Amino acid sequence: MRDFFYTGQSLFDYYQVEKWFYISVNNFQISMLKIAATLYMLGIIIPAFSQSNKMDFEQYDPVSTLVVPEHKLTKAKYPFIDVHNHQWNMGNGSLDGLIKDMDSLNLQVMVNLSGGNGNRLKQMIDNVNTQYPKRFIVFANINFDNVGAPGWTEKAVQQLEADVRNGANGLKIFKNLGFSVNDVSGKRVTIDDPRLDAIWEKCGQLKIPVLIHTADPAPFWQPMDEHNERWLELKTHPGRKRSDTDPAPWQTLINEQHNMFKKHPNTTFIAAHFGWYANDLAKLDSLLTALPNVVVEFGAVIAELGRQPRAAKAFFTKYQDRILFGKDSWVPSEYATYFRVLETEDEYFPYHKKYHAFWRMYGMGLPDDILKKVYYKNALRIVPGIDKSQFPED
Ligand SMILES: [Zn+2]
Repeated sequence: MRDFFYTGQSLFDYYQVEKWFYISVNNFQISMLKIAATLYMLGIIIPAFSQSNKMDFEQYDPVSTLVVPEHKLTKAKYPFIDVHNHQWNMGNGSLDGLIKDMDSLNLQVMVNLSGGNGNRLKQMIDNVNTQYPKRFIVFANINFDNVGAPGWTEKAVQQLEADVRNGANGLKIFKNLGFSVNDVSGKRVTIDDPRLDAIWEKCGQLKIPVLIHTADPAPFWQPMDEHNERWLELKTHPGRKRSDTDPAPWQTLINEQHNMFKKHPNTTFIAAHFGWYANDLAKLDSLLTALPNVVVEFGAVIAELGRQPRAAKAFFTKYQDRILFGKDSWVPSEYATYFRVLETEDEYFPYHKKYHAFWRMYGMGLPDDILKKVYYKNALRIVPGIDKSQFPED
């Protein structure tokens, strides 16, 4: 029994392999292995090794292997009104190219928020009216130079009245109010500054909405580190970084805006970018409940909705009369993401800008009656001067 065991074929083979190993590994190689083991224990090799396996966050862009139905929409299901657009040079020249792009998306009416005021605004509206009077709406802007100078408020109100007479159908307030607008004494003009009250009241009397963009996404105020969801945006756009003293805490600016909404219940305000609460719809829900004169548009925040399609759909169902279509930057190809989130039930599809959203999106699959409200019915009710005959009746 014992003899058989020790002379078995397998034991012999094993011995031969061991013998081959000791013969083939020469002394030099053994020394190298010893050095490597020592470096490993000292932690010298590990960092160098893992360095080669590291990949840049900006570079990592894996192709999804998920196979699910895809509906890459290039055109909206219904003609729509984009209430948040910027065209800086509509004062002269042909609008044919713009109309061609709009037609390809089913964008029936574009609201240009960058109308300015005075002659510039008048020239823009005249140019629109001689070419495509039904396709564009222009909002005026306030000149905030010298707030606090004698008669500033009265002059601003008079200018706004003149701009509306010249064809402006709304007022757009840029984020410079709150960020960089100072009064004649150099003090920051708050969004709820009483010297501006007469302007918001006048908009209520003239029955024109005020579309207002205040502050920016809250992560711009947070430390720029591995926990910040907008780290990449701050890296690629360093000028967007803010702090509690540059110019004020995020919450302070947002509170100023809400206070201004509260002070003027007879004026309709369109809070741009979902008031920067698209990532906290419960909070936005309570705000809209408390402030019946406020509606919202989702320019540049569709990625927030696309990452929470169930909560977003519930929100759109509850507030279907108070949500407007907005996009902000004019890049026609990017509208596809908006149509897909609103209309389809597609899953795990990409957003178009990694610095806004490194995550994937899911469609809400809104029913037709809500889609029609978001695409055009709500805007027809809130923004004056749009020819209704361009849209389906029901
Ligand atoms: Zn904008």
